[in-house]
Amino acid sequence: MKVRCPYCGAEYDAPEGLQYSVCPYCGTVLKQGQTYEKVYMFKPSLDKTAAFRRALSLRPWASPSDLDSSASLTSAELHYIPLYLYYVYFEPLKELATYATAPAMEKPPFYIPKDYRFPARWRTPFKPGLERTAVFHGPQLDPEAAWAAVSGRYEREARNYAAVFKKPISDMSSFEGLVYYPFWRLRYAYGGREYEAVVDAAEGDVTYMEYPVSRAGRRISAAAAASIVLGAAFLGLIGAAFSPAASAGIHGNPRLLDLAAAAGVAGGGVAGLVGAARLLAFAVERKAIYRADRDVELV
Ligand SMILES: [Zn+2]
Repeated sequence: MKVRCPYCGAEYDAPEGLQYSVCPYCGTVLKQGQTYEKVYMFKPSLDKTAAFRRALSLRPWASPSDLDSSASLTSAELHYIPLYLYYVYFEPLKELATYATAPAMEKPPFYIPKDYRFPARWRTPFKPGLERTAVFHGPQLDPEAAWAAVSGRYEREARNYAAVFKKPISDMSSFEGLVYYPFWRLRYAYGGREYEAVVDAAEGDVTYMEYPVSRAGRRISAAAAASIVLGAAFLGLIGAAFSPAASAGIHGNPRLLDLAAAAGVAGGGVAGLVGAARLLAFAVERKAIYRADRDVELV
C-alpha cells in the first residue's frame, strides 16, 4: 500500500493491515491515514564519536590492547526503535502508578537484549523532520500483545503489595502512545577487517560488539585450555584414588583401583574438555561477539 507522508511529502510502501505506518524519511506516524499525535522520542545523548569511544572502552575479553588507538570508525547510523508507552495503574494502588515501555518490534534490526530495560522518563514529544538523518523503524506488534508480554512483572508487584491490605486490584493500565528510542549502529575497521557495534544512544550502554581476538588472547587461551585439561585429569585421578571404590580396591581386588582411577581420569578430562573447548576456540578464532546479556561468542 502506497502512503504519502503529510509532513514531508515522501511516498513510501506501508505493509497492508498494520494499524500504524511510519514515514521512513521523517518518522511521522499515521494511524489509519490520520497523523498520529501521541508520539514521543528519546533524544540521543551521545554523538557517533562518543558512542564509538564507549564501545572501545568496553575492552571485552581477549580484545587487543591497542584496539582503542588503532580502530577507526568507518560508518555510523542512528536508528530509532519503536517502543510502546503505557501508564501502569492497578486500581486502587495510586502510589504504585508508573510509566513503562515495551518493544513494539518483533525483530529489531540489530541485537538488543531480550529484557532490555528501556527508560520511560525523560521522553520528549516527537517533532517530525528533526531527525532526517536517522533510520526510523515502524511498529510490528499490536499494543495489547506487547503489553501482555511485559505486564506480568508489574502485576506481580502490585499483587504482593495489595496482599498486605487484602484488597482486590484491577489492571487499569492504558496505552499511551509510541516512543522512538535511539541506537547507534557503528562499523569500525581494525587490522584491515570490519566489525560492528551497537550502542544505546540515550544511555550510552554497549549492547552488541564484534571485535578481533588478539594474538595474545589466542596464545593465553591455548595455554589455559591445555592446563585445564591436564588439571582436570589430575584431579580426576586423585578423586578416584580416594573414592570408596579405590579403598575397596586396596583391600580387595587391585584391578578395581585401576578401573576407578581410569574412570576418574576420563570423568575429569571430559569435564575439563567442556570448560576448555571455549578457550581452545578462542585460540583459533580471530573474531568474537560481545552481547550485553550473554557470554562472549565466537564467529
Ligand atoms: Zn515524512
